[in-house]
Amino acid sequence: MYQLEVAPGVTFVEGERRGRFPYGDVLVLEGREARVLVDTGAGEEVLAGVLDRGPVDVVINTHYHIDHVRGNVLAASRSPGAAFWCPEGEKEPLTSWEGFLRFTGFDDPGLDDARRFRSGLGWAPTPVVRELVDGEVLDFGGLRATVLRLSGHTPGHTGLWFEERRVLFTADIDMSSFGPWYGDVFSSIDDYLASLERLERLAAGTSGPRVVLTSHRRPLTVESFRARLPAFRARFEEREERILSMLAGVGPLTLEDLAARWPIYGRQSRVLPGLMKSERLMLAHHLERLARSGRVRCVAGPGGEKVWEAL
Ligand SMILES: [Zn+2]
Repeated sequence: MYQLEVAPGVTFVEGERRGRFPYGDVLVLEGREARVLVDTGAGEEVLAGVLDRGPVDVVINTHYHIDHVRGNVLAASRSPGAAFWCPEGEKEPLTSWEGFLRFTGFDDPGLDDARRFRSGLGWAPTPVVRELVDGEVLDFGGLRATVLRLSGHTPGHTGLWFEERRVLFTADIDMSSFGPWYGDVFSSIDDYLASLERLERLAAGTSGPRVVLTSHRRPLTVESFRARLPAFRARFEEREERILSMLAGVGPLTLEDLAARWPIYGRQSRVLPGLMKSERLMLAHHLERLARSGRVRCVAGPGGEKVWEAL
């Protein structure tokens, strides 16, 4: 197990398979008044190792995705008094399976049906008792963190800013080579871009972070984080250009036909459950945004079906 105390009381613990999906890295925060676990998707063995060293008082879920919450049940069973906190507005997908389907889009009859693979997903209700609001300061006794709402990936997706320790945790804004992910119903490209801008400003400040932690890679220096930002953000535009050139080359296409050309993920040899769902929803968010800026429009095709055309 790889773990690193990046500052007093702030320990990064790498998830199984180096924290890659369907696992994720977690943080252990140790203040005088509370021991806190941030996210629980590290995998059973890693998480049990964390909980073997003592129970936690609080579990914070940065958002409702499975690779961040799958260990909530284990954390609750090993820490019976633990309080579960989540971002404002994300209680529904954490407490209700129907809510989870509504937020992720797995319940759309035309999309992959999550009902079939519920057990594989490992979803279970989380007893959320508090919703965290942007800007509020959490004080664990000599260790404080400011709640940083970083919407876009999901509507409430939340990071933490340990100002006194100069450590920034950006959760799933992870500087991966894939780039930003926004494949749920209430994901938003505009919000994601605003969150990147917010992080860029914070990282550029003279009293900004020294270390940046994410949910899916080992700790980065702030210099490395800043160096990776432009390429990460450029994915939005690259994907948009691919969508536009497909429409310009082939002519008007339905959302389904366009998704089958995989403009976001690239052609897949093996389609994992949920992947086409993500492709279609990310594509839909792009098309809506392109329509708002007048670069595509949605019209009726020959059979009355909705097709998208480049302008
Ligand atoms: Zn996520």
